[in-house]
Amino acid sequence: MSLGWSRRAPVDTLVGTEAAIDFTIPLSELPRVSHELSATDGEAIGKVRFSRQLGQAVADLEVSTQPEVVCQRCMQPMRWPVRVKSRIALVSDYNAADRVPEGLEVFLVEADSVSVRDLVDEEVLLALPHVARHDEDSECAGREMRLPGHEAEADEVPADVQKPFAQLGELLKRK
Ligand SMILES: [Zn+2]
Repeated sequence: MSLGWSRRAPVDTLVGTEAAIDFTIPLSELPRVSHELSATDGEAIGKVRFSRQLGQAVADLEVSTQPEVVCQRCMQPMRWPVRVKSRIALVSDYNAADRVPEGLEVFLVEADSVSVRDLVDEEVLLALPHVARHDEDSECAGREMRLPGHEAEADEVPADVQKPFAQLGELLKRK
């Protein structure tokens, strides 16, 4: 069976054939992830394998990517390395979600079909930071702002600057 990352297929078929799919997905093709990024160049690369384990439809997903986000300290773009390896239970309703064994993530499938794009979009979204920052102050491009006399302002975020992740924390709490 040949299957691209963008095509939705029935979970039963994917699991029944133990479909294994290698993918390279432009970040611009991940609807929710691309909405959170400051630039949508780059790709999510990985593989997924579907199977049934203990009666549960499961997707084993590995994906890595380096999306561009905005450092909330210096407000400059930075690369945020994402490397996800997860075992995802594919469930069709919330009752089934309650029965998923511990250690598995839960993905709610719409209309019994799923695409690799759906899974990757969700997993990369969850891996994005609430508040992105360079690891060290010294990496911040805004460092030159911290000259004597300017230190007090250095950590303050200008009120009119977009904060793409301000809503993400709330989003995650709702899940
Ligand atoms: Zn920075």
